Amino acid sequence: MSRLKLGWIGLGNMGTPMVKNLLKAGFEVVVFNRTKQKEAELIANGASTATDPQTLLENCDVVFTMLSNDEAVKTVFEGEKGLLTNPGTGKMIIDMSTVSPDTSRYLSELCKKNHIDFLEAPVSGSVKPAQDGTLIILVGGETSAYEKAKPAFEALGKLSVHVGGAGVGSSAKLAVNYLLGLNLQGLAETVLFAEKNGVSKTDMLTIINEGACGNGITKLKTSSILNEDYPAAFALKHLVKDLGLAKDAGLDAPLIDPLYHTFQQAQQEGLGEEDVMAVIKSLAKR
Ligand code: NAP
Repeated sequence: MSRLKLGWIGLGNMGTPMVKNLLKAGFEVVVFNRTKQKEAELIANGASTATDPQTLLENCDVVFTMLSNDEAVKTVFEGEKGLLTNPGTGKMIIDMSTVSPDTSRYLSELCKKNHIDFLEAPVSGSVKPAQDGTLIILVGGETSAYEKAKPAFEALGKLSVHVGGAGVGSSAKLAVNYLLGLNLQGLAETVLFAEKNGVSKTDMLTIINEGACGNGITKLKTSSILNEDYPAAFALKHLVKDLGLAKDAGLDAPLIDPLYHTFQQAQQEGLGEEDVMAVIKSLAKR
């Protein structure tokens, strides 16, 4: 794949560091972003640019999308000058956004009609793993397409897992983000409860992180909680989206409704653009 020309659409918190890693690994990359200013940093790093998704696919062998949500992905695929404007025999599109399993299956069918190979490849891991190239990539689609994409996945992540056909990768992603949500709300509630009873945040976070309940996410979010500063690594609005998608995909476990309600409430209070850990500010008001 290293000789294939790659295209990338979506230069948000995740897309930008991911493209940097592809460039670092020696891939030729053409980028497109709705807000054009965000392309400048990558052009300075050696990427070139295209005027629209249609032109991008015409100029590249494989195009990746890393976009906000189902609606954004469908717009980029099906909209005016979108990826599916023309048949693309021999080309491949890899959607790395977190979307519903139904959307992935729908896009897979559309691509098939356009003679384009399709993979869904949502990721587990936030901005830091995206920067470090240590994401976990959850792949759904045909084995032959997965084999072709592997060299790029190796530049982006520490592990890729081919979990099944189109839709299964998205299901795995929604499942792991349910666990993420439970961890975040549990951490916030624990720290707030302890603080109310005289245990400082610093002491409580040390107790959590040094013990069996400490994990990657509790450690990652500790400095934000202590500094009361929540710049978006994973914007809270995206977790609300993912929990809603998990419910739509059939998650009816006892904890999903209160969890969804908590994060929805935080978004309604204006915390949607802040990091997911900002949920603690909403919970502190109760
Ligand atoms: P982000 O920072 O909000 O970036 C979203 C990207 O989507 C931007 O490039 C934005 O373009 C583009 N976009 C949105 N609506 C569009 C539309 N209608 N047409 C064209 N482009 C559109 O999001 P992110 O944090 O990078 O996340 C991207 C995806 O990865 C999401 O599905 C998210 O759930 C998932 N994810 C995120 C994380 C994380 O920690 N951040 C981790 C794992 C998975 P503009 O620049 O023009 O707004």
